Amino acid sequence: MKVAVVGAGIGGLTAALRLQQDGHEVTVLDAGARPGGVIGTSTASGFRREHAANGFLTGADDGAAALCAELGVDVVEAAPAAKSRWIYLRGKLHALPSGPGSFARSGLLSWRGKLGVLGEPFRRGRDVAVAGDESLWDFAVRRLGTEAAHALVAPMATGVFAADARTLSLAAGFPKLAALDARGGLVRGMVAEARARKRRGEPRVKSVLAAPAGGMSALVDAVAARLGERVRRGVTVREVRPEGFGGGGGGGGGGASSGGNGRGHGVIVVGDDPSRGERYDAVVLAVPGAAAATLVAGAMPALARGLDEVHYAPVALAFLGFRKRDVRADLGGFGFLVAAGEAPRVLGCVFESTVWPDRAPADHVLVRMIYGGARDPGAAELDDPALFAQAGADLAQVLGVRAEPVHTSSVRWAHGIAQYPVGHADRVAAWERVAHPARLVLAGSAYHGVAVNDCIADARRVARVVGSFMPFTLSEGRA
Ligand SMILES: Cc1cc2nc3c(=O)[nH]c(=O)nc-3n(C[C@H](O)[C@H](O)[C@H](O)COP(=O)(O)OP(=O)(O)OC[C@H]3O[C@@H](n4cnc5c(N)ncnc54)[C@H](O)[C@@H]3O)c2cc1C
Repeated sequence: MKVAVVGAGIGGLTAALRLQQDGHEVTVLDAGARPGGVIGTSTASGFRREHAANGFLTGADDGAAALCAELGVDVVEAAPAAKSRWIYLRGKLHALPSGPGSFARSGLLSWRGKLGVLGEPFRRGRDVAVAGDESLWDFAVRRLGTEAAHALVAPMATGVFAADARTLSLAAGFPKLAALDARGGLVRGMVAEARARKRRGEPRVKSVLAAPAGGMSALVDAVAARLGERVRRGVTVREVRPEGFGGGGGGGGGGASSGGNGRGHGVIVVGDDPSRGERYDAVVLAVPGAAAATLVAGAMPALARGLDEVHYAPVALAFLGFRKRDVRADLGGFGFLVAAGEAPRVLGCVFESTVWPDRAPADHVLVRMIYGGARDPGAAELDDPALFAQAGADLAQVLGVRAEPVHTSSVRWAHGIAQYPVGHADRVAAWERVAHPARLVLAGSAYHGVAVNDCIADARRVARVVGSFMPFTLSEGRA
């Protein structure tokens, strides 16, 4: 089939790759000058900056590590020092416990809070498929107690989604936690999974933090290179109009000529020239929700209203580079997350050059601080001087770093990370029931997972859905 993929972020690119491998004739259309969407790597004053995802966990089924291996992209593992992580709570840093001993000694939770966590295996599991979705916060309070929800779990929502745990969907945002709960709870579910794995004779998969050598751009560039001329950059798609699907797409105005035979089935994609449209057998919408909504607003207004509901947390990244000798603080570890209600405005900070030593020039260090998110959207709007001043103040407060940075720069995303409120999975399923009959497939981080691993794995689903569409030549005798 002739398939257009609108959007060359990691979701669209990987979907296009899978479609091409399945034998479809694919064209990727993207408004940007380079592939990758929010993913990008750049170097400023010798400091290497990741504009969005800065790594991925290996061991995920069909995830980024597997894609890198498939494309011959070299991968580097994070430095061993990155294993420790920190949480800023009650005015100081606490190491995230990594085992029973460190949990018992940790000052993150009171004894009452620790007892709440230890009671987890004795609480009944809950299956979202039966009992309905709930927020990550409600899940954490129910299973681990309020203290652990605040100190351990809510910062995780900030770290992954820049989201508010109180509104974030458990089913859509953390499906693995939901699956464990459905098997009796976190501990019981893990034991049941380990037993099932053993019965199947499957080894335990090791998962480590890794990134392409040279940065995340290397991965998106490799996918784009594999697709070659199928990727058309600098093309803003204005409209996507399914035609001839009865209830699904149905006609729908617009002045574009079909570019095909003008009748019959097909999805018309209108690019920069509104007088011309191109006809495809199916279209993958791998653009942010609001952009997808604009594209289908003319032909499918109800679907457009739904897609327009997908919100994105705004984020501003502040990169601060220092001479190593000026920083007296211990930058051992991946970085820190700040619990809600603490004085620093920063949501979290990655010790980039500890995790990936080549991201700073010799004898220098680089930190990446994330501002905004659902918790403090206003912080993402601070101008650069105010952002860097805030970052300096936060580093002083959290780590005692008072040195002048030798490098400051920012990367901003007004629509940064897709947010999945409670009930998101059901809403996505409802949109798909409308989109698929019109041969539109929703792809990318707005729907089935924001992490790079999720977007990559989801590409197989996208290809399967497209593959399930009947070719027009069989059903309609398309001219
Ligand atoms: C600051 C930040 C940090 C992150 N950190 C991590 C992390 O550490 N690990 C992790 O796994 N994930 C992380 N993520 C999430 C992950 O990077 C994103 O969810 C993912 O890259 C989004 O990919 P996408 O394909 O859905 O969309 P996007 O990257 O948003 O791409 C969409 C594409 O659509 C194009 N487009 C839009 N409208 C049109 C149009 N009308 N016509 C043509 N093209 C159009 C755009 O040009 C763009 O290229 C982070 C995200 C951010 C923002």
